[in-house]
Amino acid sequence: CGVFGVFNHENAAELTYYGLHALQHRGQEGAGIVTSDGKMLHQHKGEGLVRNVFTQQDIDRLKGIHSIGHVRYSTAGGGGIMNVQPFLFRSQSGPLGLCHNGNLVNANQLKVYLESEGSIFQTTSDSEILAHLLKRQRGDMLTALKESLLYIEGAFAFLLLKENEMYIALDKFGLRPLSLGRIGDNGIVVASETCAFDVIGAEYIRDVKPGEVIRIDLEGITSERYATTCDQSMCSMEYVYFARPDSDVEGINVHQARKNCGRILAQEAPIEADIVVGVPDSGLSAAIGYAEEANIPFEIGMVKNKYIGRTFIQPSQTLREQGVKMKLSAVRSIVKDKRVVLIDDSIVRGTTSRRMVDMLREAGAKEVHVRIASPEIKFPCFYGVDFSTYDELIAATHTTEQICEVIGADSLAFISVDGLTKGVGRSPKLGKNCGQCVACFNGDYPTYLYEDVKCANKE
Ligand code: 5GP
Ligand code: SF4
Ligand code: MG
Repeated sequence: CGVFGVFNHENAAELTYYGLHALQHRGQEGAGIVTSDGKMLHQHKGEGLVRNVFTQQDIDRLKGIHSIGHVRYSTAGGGGIMNVQPFLFRSQSGPLGLCHNGNLVNANQLKVYLESEGSIFQTTSDSEILAHLLKRQRGDMLTALKESLLYIEGAFAFLLLKENEMYIALDKFGLRPLSLGRIGDNGIVVASETCAFDVIGAEYIRDVKPGEVIRIDLEGITSERYATTCDQSMCSMEYVYFARPDSDVEGINVHQARKNCGRILAQEAPIEADIVVGVPDSGLSAAIGYAEEANIPFEIGMVKNKYIGRTFIQPSQTLREQGVKMKLSAVRSIVKDKRVVLIDDSIVRGTTSRRMVDMLREAGAKEVHVRIASPEIKFPCFYGVDFSTYDELIAATHTTEQICEVIGADSLAFISVDGLTKGVGRSPKLGKNCGQCVACFNGDYPTYLYEDVKCANKE
């Protein structure tokens, strides 16, 4: 998912619309905005793409100078309008808007507890839990929020909106990206990715820190910690696949990180070939790096139809396979009779790679050597990236040689975990694996995992 917020700007709703549009790659199932005019909160949300959910009238009706917004990519709780965020809660102490990127690992335990205490949930999403926890705490909102966050485990970037305050919270591992910026004279913006700042002309200030809680009101910004930081673990897949190439994640440009990974991949898994081809768009940055390092020409051997959404997000495997076919084609005169190194960012189910190898061979490629700019994904993600079962991961059940056979390549290699962290280039001082989560590659999960999460995801 993607979250975006604006505090103290007269065009709050409009800016949020553009911000969400820049974050559209993070989720296409639904979008919503909640604004505050200082007294009342206003909401509009719907299923589908940002541009289809909002009309000019909808934006005009979202009055106010503060705003939070969300694009949804369902991993927990399923689809449907009820789970589209931001949620808007009404209570005697005033309204509250809430949206969340990430996935909680103790959602079931907390729901059982909260229901036994009288809560009734309106949605099947795990994000709603925070609002129920908040209602049970004493003291001012910041104190209550810090208390509530101590109950929650997993990955989260939360934005909350009251009439005249915004609250921002990031999980103590910093699993999901979240950046702060400035706009206009006094406006503050917050977004999952910095590419959302660029489109609205906001200036990047800094990233939200693991375990940090921020309160913004008309007087300024207050920053506190709800937890002491342990094991900073930024999701590696943000660099590999999820984030846009023009975003900086914790100060590192995503395109640059992918390109460096391509370079290291060329060192780790060299091969004699005539051209390097990247799978558009996610494999292009790494392909450029591979080509430079290997001194083999980079070629556009494959083009993408821009008018089809990302394949991964569609619900069923059959749809996904259809999507892949419609989406990409080989450039026959470029690849014919060539030995091709084909670069992609990742292999999840193997669908994309298999199709690409087929396509290149049909177009006359002499050899196809597949190189992948992330390690084998052998373990599910419980933190909000959409591969949450072992069954869907080809590398969980197949060796590299077997995958090579399944996708029909002449050879196959993945970058190593060390190569990936080196390529991304974060400081080793940030902790284990340079402060990156690599759990889907090696099973070393930063958080505790409850049996029900592990079991539900084994089926
Ligand atoms: P596969 O086709 O092997 O199941 O998935 C890998 C392909 O899906 C890659 O080309 C990658 O760019 C794309 N993809 C789309 N969404 C995701 C995602 O959430 N995670 C990963 N790792 N790859 C994704
Ligand atoms: Fe990201 Fe993988 Fe960690 Fe999930 S398990 S947060 S996809 S690095
Ligand atoms: Mg791809």
